[in-house]
Amino acid sequence: MSSASSRTPLPPFDPADPLGLDELLDAEDLAVRDTVRAWAADRVLPHIAEWYESGELPGVRELARELGAIGALGMSLTGYGCAGASAVQYGLACLELEAADSGIRSLVSVQGSLAMYAIHRFGSEEQKQRWLPGMAAGEIIGCFGLTEPDHGSDPASMRTYAKKDGTDWVLTGRKMWITNGSVAGVAVVWAQTDDGIRGFAVPTDSPGFSAPEIKHKWSLRASVTSELVLDEVRLPADAVLPEVTGLKGPLSCLSHARYGIVWGAMGAARASFDAAVDYAKTREQFGRPIGGFQLTQAKLADMAVELHKGVLLAHHLGRRMDAGRLRPEQVSFGKLNNVREAIEICRTARTILGANGISLEYPVMRHATNLESVLTYEGTVEMHQLVLGKALTGLDAFR
Ligand SMILES: Cc1cc2nc3c(=O)[nH]c(=O)nc-3n(C[C@H](O)[C@H](O)[C@H](O)COP(=O)(O)OP(=O)(O)OC[C@H]3O[C@@H](n4cnc5c(N)ncnc54)[C@H](O)[C@@H]3O)c2cc1C
Repeated sequence: MSSASSRTPLPPFDPADPLGLDELLDAEDLAVRDTVRAWAADRVLPHIAEWYESGELPGVRELARELGAIGALGMSLTGYGCAGASAVQYGLACLELEAADSGIRSLVSVQGSLAMYAIHRFGSEEQKQRWLPGMAAGEIIGCFGLTEPDHGSDPASMRTYAKKDGTDWVLTGRKMWITNGSVAGVAVVWAQTDDGIRGFAVPTDSPGFSAPEIKHKWSLRASVTSELVLDEVRLPADAVLPEVTGLKGPLSCLSHARYGIVWGAMGAARASFDAAVDYAKTREQFGRPIGGFQLTQAKLADMAVELHKGVLLAHHLGRRMDAGRLRPEQVSFGKLNNVREAIEICRTARTILGANGISLEYPVMRHATNLESVLTYEGTVEMHQLVLGKALTGLDAFR
């Protein structure tokens, strides 16, 4: 008895794509992926170790304009100069950017999924016209101020306050750990008001606004992170984002950004995995390549399984997002799994590289330390466990 499978030769095994996941992508998806991969190879990879060591992201404005030119900013938003890409394409871009460095992906995530998304979804038509085209082009950098020095996982308790004064708003408070803060032209700031939490599009040249950069980070060193100080910043009535009140505003932006992280984390993991495979094939001990030892192969096999399962999960969530069926709990599922597994892949890669694993000449330690931030921001591991725990049991264990 013959069957189609016995007549058709199997495709060869591709170590870079063991599950054949590229077959899930169409020509446009592949074009997006190739464009972003080529940009990162040209503009980030040759410099990233130096930027990381110096703890700076020099030329961040130029990088933002280039990212705008390839359509990577606000990529899955429509109109106002945005690319209108699918969620899967946006995810592929995040993966390629984070394979270069989590700091570059953070720049893009905060710009597109947090600052632009907030204005696109909750802003007035005037706010969209004012900010979004320049942000899509990378001419204006945006940041997103939710976290405060004393309120991280529990943003509902934030103290930053927006008081009505006639028709104006007056904002006072402090935000902490804000990506892109010192280089932003507009800050989306969330504040308490008499009517609940509201979002504001704050021009960063407003009197009373300052954004000192946070130094001495051992993670996301090639990323600008800042404090936002709001000292009676007076804004006109039309600075408030009119379409949302309450924590659901910032949380829906975070859900969009977390979705990108589900993909992005697998980029950091892929880069570290690739470095480990290359190293294992050439580094010799006891007279042969360490990749020929069973213990090393067990590590590589386990890493590959988690890496490609993670990409498959990201793709599944992307398809759900494109179909308008992605729930926040599912994003928590993806962020919890993929960042946790990515950091394990990087740590295991580090062991395969031995002492060289701690060197900046190889990417693995840089990715591993970056992922410490990614594990914490956009909801810590514990917060996503609590989200899933609540969804699974119906019992809220947050407080
Ligand atoms: C590099 C970097 C960039 C960032 N960029 C931004 C940005 O652009 N915008 C922004 O608004 N924020 C940003 N953040 C902040 C980030 O979102 C917060 O750090 C994060 O939400 C955690 O808050 P926290 O650091 O105050 O930790 P905490 O909330 O104080 O948590 C400390 C620990 O306690 C645990 N914990 C807290 N509550 C519970 C509970 N109920 N049950 C069990 N465990 C609990 C946490 O999971 C964590 O392990 C950034 C952070 C970093 C490191």
